[in-house]
Amino acid sequence: MTRGFLGLGSNLGDKRAHLKAALAALGAIPGLQIRRVAGIYRTAPLGPVAQDWYLNTVAEIATDLEPAALLERCQALEQALGRVRHEHWGPRTIDIDVLWLENFSVTSPGLTVPHPGAHLRSFVLAPWCELAPELRLHGHPLHYWLQRADPLGLAEVK
Ligand code: AMP
Repeated sequence: MTRGFLGLGSNLGDKRAHLKAALAALGAIPGLQIRRVAGIYRTAPLGPVAQDWYLNTVAEIATDLEPAALLERCQALEQALGRVRHEHWGPRTIDIDVLWLENFSVTSPGLTVPHPGAHLRSFVLAPWCELAPELRLHGHPLHYWLQRADPLGLAEVK
């Protein structure tokens, strides 16, 4: 089994319920186990466009799936949860990113692993650092990147 990390985010409707539903559905995928889940973090909305705040978390997984198959499963889940819950609001009730997979480095048109933005985003790094602060990305541990990322009003929620 390959160790990996997934990032999950939601900014529509009952965000906490969407995260929970996504984690439950991910854990039910054959060849994918959820090992640990970090706390949930809230990020304030930014920019001129009115949009709701986000809830984000990170899950440690173990999987037999190849990276492309894993992404496919995650995208199918995004669509299924979006469709069931909030069809009229669009597909972004849940966003799932493949952050990192042990021994995999992928650069293809539809998939880059490690995720190219992960080391710059506090809402990914804060929950991820709970699980693997010493994991290295681009030559530095995750806690190094977290100290340098824009906090974006990040706060852990209970
Ligand atoms: P987003 O709208 O930010 O969720 O981006 C989704 C797009 O990013 C999809 O078209 C994916 O094919 C692509 N993508 C590339 N690398 C990754 C990754 N590591 N995890 C998730 N999506 C990815």
